[in-house]
Formats: sequence, structure tokens, C-alpha cells
Amino acid sequence: MPKVDALDLTNLNPYDVLKADVLDVITESPTIKTFRIKPEKPFEFVTGQFVELTVPGIGEAPFTPSSSHYEKEEMDITIMKVGFVTEAVHRVKRGDVLGIRGPYGKGYPLDKFKGKDVLILGGGVGLAPLRCLLLTLIHDIDDYKSITICFGARTPEDLIYKNQFDDWRKYDKIHILRSVDMIPEGQKWDEKVGVVTVLLDDIKINTKDAVAVACGPPIMMKFGTFALVDKGFKDENIYLSMEKKMYCGFGQCRHCVIGKYYACKDGPVFTYDVIKDEEKIWE
Ligand SMILES: Cc1cc2nc3c(=O)[nH]c(=O)nc-3n(C[C@H](O)[C@H](O)[C@H](O)COP(=O)(O)OP(=O)(O)OC[C@H]3O[C@@H](n4cnc5c(N)ncnc54)[C@H](O)[C@@H]3O)c2cc1C
Repeated sequence: MPKVDALDLTNLNPYDVLKADVLDVITESPTIKTFRIKPEKPFEFVTGQFVELTVPGIGEAPFTPSSSHYEKEEMDITIMKVGFVTEAVHRVKRGDVLGIRGPYGKGYPLDKFKGKDVLILGGGVGLAPLRCLLLTLIHDIDDYKSITICFGARTPEDLIYKNQFDDWRKYDKIHILRSVDMIPEGQKWDEKVGVVTVLLDDIKINTKDAVAVACGPPIMMKFGTFALVDKGFKDENIYLSMEKKMYCGFGQCRHCVIGKYYACKDGPVFTYDVIKDEEKIWE
């Protein structure tokens, strides 16, 4: 059983919840909505970290903000409806009040990305945490060599942030590749068809010296990581956001164990070399 570190509670109650007003609700797809919230005081976090979002009277669940970490007054959280808490969040309207606690975990070490080509590989709602990273990178775009986004969704209707890709394409340093698994009758699509890893055939960067960041459903994380390794990315340059089931968010409840690590406090961002030999990392 992994060792549980004692929490330093001297100055902090780790369960402290801030009230957060819901300013706007944007429907991204049939199952995904973005909630713009305003915490009662400025909220600092680093891209890659996550928060616990509370629906009063219902419960709480972990989510990674989808807005830039430079925004401290307001925050976007993009949420897919999958179960009890997320269904309740999807019923929330502008003017309602939610709770937020955190931030928790370790984010992306952006200093290690500087001067490099950065590849972002996302599937489905996995693009939410990656949009936080992307917007943060855009804020300091001169610091990075290039940013390539490979994004896959099940169908064109399931694509999130549909109206924002054109804004991102305006940057010379940003290259966007998108795919869908299938095109149901009545939906239009003139980009690539296939699972998201097919997009890696079209990337034009020197993978040996580049950084890759992946977030998506477990099956995409597994085959996406194998494909990144195949393309020449080094294990230590592949950053995986491990969205394991978790409750407390800071290493007490033990639900999010990955071998000798906790996804909540040692992650959720891990490089592949660190976790590749741990048991059941893709489940
Ligand atoms: C660090 C972190 C960041 C996350 N960021 C986001 C985000 O930005 N947007 C988003 O939509 N979701 C995100 N998730 C996933 C989100 O936390 C779960 O979807 C949510 O907890 C489900 O709660 P529920 O009560 O609605 O589902 P439940 O009723 O508890 O479960 C419904 C179904 O979802 C499965 N499930 C529950 N939790 C997870 C999980 N963590 N991963 C995979 N399957 C799960 C259950 O096994 C069950 O099949 C993140 C998870 C983690 C750990």
C-alpha cells in the first residue's frame, strides 16, 4: 500500500470551498458544456492542475480548468455529462452558485517547453485541459518554437470549441490538424477521418527534440502514447494528463493510485518515462 504523507494543515483547510457564480453556460456538443465561473476571490493555479467543483446538495468531482492560468478572476470549466455529478452540473444555469476548491496536483513544467516545438494530442473532452495549456502558451507565444494541435472527436457534432479554431489558426506558429472517427448522415466534414493518431502522420516537426502533451479517454492515451513513441518523441518528453477516478484531490482517499504514485498529488501530469512501468496505467 503506498505511503500517505501527512498533510500540513497549519494554515489551510484543504476542504475549504470558495463560492463561484456561474456567469455563462456554453453548449459545446450534445454532451459537453463550458461553464464560465467567477470565484468569490481571485483563484491562482498552474496549467495542468485541477480543481474540485461542488454542486451544492449533490456532490463534487475533479475538473481541469479550460481557460488560461493567466486569468485569475474568472475561469472556464468544460464538462462532459457522464454520471451523477456531471448531470447535475449540466442542469446549472447562469446566476446559479457552485463551489470550487483547490488547485491540486502538479501542472506542466512550462520552462521545459520553452524554445521547443510543442505537440498537443487531444481526444473528446480531453481538449478541455489542453485548451488551458494552449491559451497559456499563446499568451507567451514568442517563447515557443511552434504549437501543433492534433484533435480528434467521434463525429463533427462532438467537436468542442468549434468557433475558436479559426482564432488559433491566425498565429503563424500554430498548426491545427483535426479528425473525426465517422461522419453520420447529415453532418458535414472536410478534414481527416480516422482515429486521432492518424493525424500524427501529417506533423512536420523534429520529434526527437519536441515535447508532446496528451489528454483524452484511456484508449486514446494508450494508443496515442505508443504512436508518439513510434514517431520519435522521447519518453521523458511525453506529458500525460492521467484523469484517474479520485475524490479528495490531495492524496488521502487513495482512489487514484497509479503504482507507487497518486494521480492527484504526484500528477495528474506525468511524463511517460516515470509511469510506463507501473501497473494498469491505461485503466
Ligand atoms: C484530474 C482530473 C481532471 C479532469 N478534468 C475533466 C474535465 O476538464 N472535463 C471533464 O468533463 N471531465 C474531467 N475529468 C473527469 C471527471 O472528473 C469525471 O467525469 C467525473 O468525476 C464524473 O463524475 P460523475 O459523478 O458525473 O460520474 P459517476 O456517476 O461517478 O460515474 C459515471 C461514469 O463515469 C466514470 N468515471 C467517473 N470518474 C471518472 C474519471 N475520473 N475518469 C474516467 N471515468 C470516470 C465512472 O466509472 C462511470 O462509468 C477529470 C478527472 C480528473 C481526475
